[in-house]
Amino acid sequence: MMPTVDEGTEKIFSYCIHCAGLCGVIAHVKEGHLIKVEGDPDSLNNGGTLCPKGLSAKQEIYHPDRLKYPMKRSNPKADANPGWVRISWDEALDTIAAKMKEIRDRDGPEAFVFQKGSTGGSSGTEWYRFFHRLSALYGSPNHGGTGHICCYSRSCPGLPTHLGGKGQHPAIDYARTNLIFLVGYNILHTHPPLARKILDAKQRGAKLIVVDPVLSPTAAKADTWLALRPGTDLALFLAMHHVIIRERLYDSEFLASWSNAPFLVRDDNGLFLREGKAYVVWDSDAERPHPADPWLPPEVKPALTGSMSVNGTRCRPAWQLFFEMVDKCSPEWAQEITSIPAEDIRMVARLFATTKPASTDWYNGLHRSSNGFYTAVALALLSVVTGNWDVPGGLSFESDLMFKDVKGSQFLPEGWVQKSLVAAAGFKAREYNREYVGPMNLVADAILTDKPYPIKGMLALASGVATSNPNSKKMIDALRKLEFLAVGDIWETPAMVAADIILPCATHWESEFVNYNAPYLMYRRPIVQPQHEAWPDIKIVFELARRLGYEKEFWNGDIKTAFNEMLQPLNVTVDGLAASSRGIRYLPPEPHYGKYAAKDKKTGKPNGVATPTGRLEIYSETLKTLGYEPLPYWQEPEPGPVSTPELFEKFPLILSSGFKPMHWLHGQLRAIPWLRECDEEPRVWINRRSARGLGIRDGDVVMVETPKRDGTLQGSVRLKAHLTESVQPQVIYIPYGWWQGCSSLDIKDSGYLDGSANINNLYDDSFTDPVSGTIGMVSYPCRIRKE
Ligand code: SF4
Repeated sequence: MMPTVDEGTEKIFSYCIHCAGLCGVIAHVKEGHLIKVEGDPDSLNNGGTLCPKGLSAKQEIYHPDRLKYPMKRSNPKADANPGWVRISWDEALDTIAAKMKEIRDRDGPEAFVFQKGSTGGSSGTEWYRFFHRLSALYGSPNHGGTGHICCYSRSCPGLPTHLGGKGQHPAIDYARTNLIFLVGYNILHTHPPLARKILDAKQRGAKLIVVDPVLSPTAAKADTWLALRPGTDLALFLAMHHVIIRERLYDSEFLASWSNAPFLVRDDNGLFLREGKAYVVWDSDAERPHPADPWLPPEVKPALTGSMSVNGTRCRPAWQLFFEMVDKCSPEWAQEITSIPAEDIRMVARLFATTKPASTDWYNGLHRSSNGFYTAVALALLSVVTGNWDVPGGLSFESDLMFKDVKGSQFLPEGWVQKSLVAAAGFKAREYNREYVGPMNLVADAILTDKPYPIKGMLALASGVATSNPNSKKMIDALRKLEFLAVGDIWETPAMVAADIILPCATHWESEFVNYNAPYLMYRRPIVQPQHEAWPDIKIVFELARRLGYEKEFWNGDIKTAFNEMLQPLNVTVDGLAASSRGIRYLPPEPHYGKYAAKDKKTGKPNGVATPTGRLEIYSETLKTLGYEPLPYWQEPEPGPVSTPELFEKFPLILSSGFKPMHWLHGQLRAIPWLRECDEEPRVWINRRSARGLGIRDGDVVMVETPKRDGTLQGSVRLKAHLTESVQPQVIYIPYGWWQGCSSLDIKDSGYLDGSANINNLYDDSFTDPVSGTIGMVSYPCRIRKE
């Protein structure tokens, strides 16, 4: 069916991917030109609404400052002016492919890094699969993303290790939950379609508790706002466990049946006691050990607490160890660390444990911490210990996207894990999960030191690699040292100063893909053709694959055939979807819960979860074996007032960042005038009392400075002050993602190094979570002075 036509204007049904909301969009196009966009009232995601980002599509597409054609540098790398010269796509891609081959043949595929930006909100959310496929075929284990500064601790490796799953994000059943415990997640602005579900839940009586150091728009909607010291969420969660255990508010039946809480752990080595291959529990009725395979006959009542001797080996159930660990973490102890009153911690713990069903959710505000791994685990375990895991209204893993996986990890060469920078840096949990999306600070270190091996080249797409990563100075120095750098984006970004080739990329509005925009499975055709000579990233990837000799593995260069392979599990084709302007109406099966209890048809035993023990893991023997703590335990993040007091002597304030208003997509879109008018410049939020003490008034220009690990100056930013009661006296808040100007409003780029507005210039990236590699950015020492 052809698109509907109204007075010469074609209506094209599409969707926005500037956040995970996937709002349905109706684009009004006349003679190939976009007139306007509006929300699709039939979309189950947005019901006709669009946020400012979606509504600004027209200004994004037709922005005069977009990159227009491929270019190569004509000046040496040391020259501040690259001397860009326009070239053809053929020359650009031939050059990139030739350098990739040269580096692979001379230095090995690991010497070339594939780098992409956030998969939430950029077009990368769709084509990243094919970028992975390209790097897998090329053979490089070094595929850098943004997980180390984004949602890594939410998806991996902690949650797969403890709860099974394959890196999916746990999801809330908003329609049925009666309590939402939201941590570091300004969902009202960053994911409006989900925020609507929260507000609906509130309207029918569900409680909303928000944990955030800043009074974000979401925190302002909460029934209870817990304003904690940044970086101390883990202490709060451990204290909540303490209350739940001390007051026996946990679900002992669920824990005994579906978690490894009853498995006996040997005192002598911290590993599970085994009888043959089976784990062992203590049968409290019979007062003797009993094997668990990992399931138990109904007559066995496993003990969760105590200390027992089995054939001369002293053991304790995993739950006993968890209990002993959190028993030290009283609300009074946590009050000292978090600055949340102990009574509030008790109240929230009781409310969470006694409201059924209850759910937790968290995002970036929790992630950028050097204790992020155990923080995420401790939070997720709140759902397990209270029996709120994988129940209606609780927390569960989202059912996997129904598309076939085309990332092509089967093409990776043998030994790729060990060759990766992640493995060489000693991140064993990541190695264990065979991950090939690594923190970019490891890449910068390897480029600058040639250790563990030289990195010679990089292809970065949609990434803002210089400004989106902490320690921008170091990243730029590293990029400049590369033998070859190709960068593709919609705009000229700071990283391009070090590039050899730059590629103009199309917006997602000008690109095609297949996706589920509820209630439609949709082939999203471009609403307008790419402007100037821009290409969709997916086309760049396919054309590079052809030049590198992977044509066969890339469906002979036919993108639609690739989409058809993705669609196979759904028994539809691109042509079938494209036959209707909206696509095909499709409602996924109702989620089913208690998946762990579903029985295997052959054995008749429960399927359990995809962890080493087959049960939800309170105690991780895997972590123990890898040399980490098997239980979440309190550790002050580095840097922090307690872990690095010497830094806080000279830099006494705590720098917080994270929550962002709804018109920004990380570091993107600042050039769009409709959006920029809403938020012209970033400001540093300072508590009124602290500001008075420093002689700072609202609107004053201030300099914020931070230290490196050794106490010398890391960097500075220059911003106007915003005096507020929304942050604590010891905390200042600076929004992230600022460097780009807006020519239509005559606002110049603000730079990205000292004296700029780029907060990533303020972080020493050597403060990392020892398990996950996440960079510590949430409680950074700083000082502030009036200019
Ligand atoms: S960015 Fe805005 S319009 Fe786009 S999907 Fe998200 S909420 Fe919807």
